Amino acid sequence: MIAVQNVSKHFENKQALSEVNLDIATGEFISIVGPSGCGKSTLLRIIADLVSTNGVVTKPDKGAFVFQDSALLPWRTVQRNVELLMELEKTPDKKTKAEQALAQVGLTGFENHYPHELSGGMKMRLSLARSLVLEPEYLLLDEPLSAVDELTREVLQEEIYEIWLKHKFTSILVTHNVAEAVYLSRRVVVMSPRPGKITDIVDIPFKKRTPKLRSTAEFSAVCNDISGKLRAWK
Ligand code: ADP
Repeated sequence: MIAVQNVSKHFENKQALSEVNLDIATGEFISIVGPSGCGKSTLLRIIADLVSTNGVVTKPDKGAFVFQDSALLPWRTVQRNVELLMELEKTPDKKTKAEQALAQVGLTGFENHYPHELSGGMKMRLSLARSLVLEPEYLLLDEPLSAVDELTREVLQEEIYEIWLKHKFTSILVTHNVAEAVYLSRRVVVMSPRPGKITDIVDIPFKKRTPKLRSTAEFSAVCNDISGKLRAWK
């Protein structure tokens, strides 16, 4: 479980977050949506311990963070980018583990390519593989798909869902894309403009995710409900 208690954040004289409280069950996938600048990334970074807070965050030991710009090292090949964190942790069998992670994200055959030779979607797959090798108990995803085209985005959502289904790591996704949040999550957290507060937590009723779900009336209704909550501040 991840527990966020009384988390607020000031940057100099600007208040980014106000009294955020949130419990995320072990193995749950939740998303956070809200207006730009409301503190979504700051909250994720606080959970990751990359930003300080006076509040309390309780979480499992092993986590991984997938950044928006994929944060790859351009001078290392695909294989060696995946091995990087294992090198730092002196993990045994890193070559085999890297190959398995690359297979899971569909990058077998690209081991010796460099990041500049990959498309946006492939870079994101690589970034995901780099997290998977750590066998994380929780995964934090900060707008990971914002740089890819719409069709690739949907394919990647389906792949992320399948990977999550297999590993069931507790996952928190920050996104501005409501349909993406609804497709992937069991609950969607809606935040107010800065200083960000949680204003709604919407339960997503769907049992299974398949691409067909996106074209159902039920899916549109849930997306419209959340979009309506976001539009309330405009
Ligand atoms: P979101 O992810 O919802 O778009 P952010 O968490 O990135 O919002 O930012 C929330 C607010 O905090 C914004 O006004 C942003 O400018 C400010 N902010 C974020 N990081 C810093 C920082 N390191 N220093 C100063 N202000 C920051």
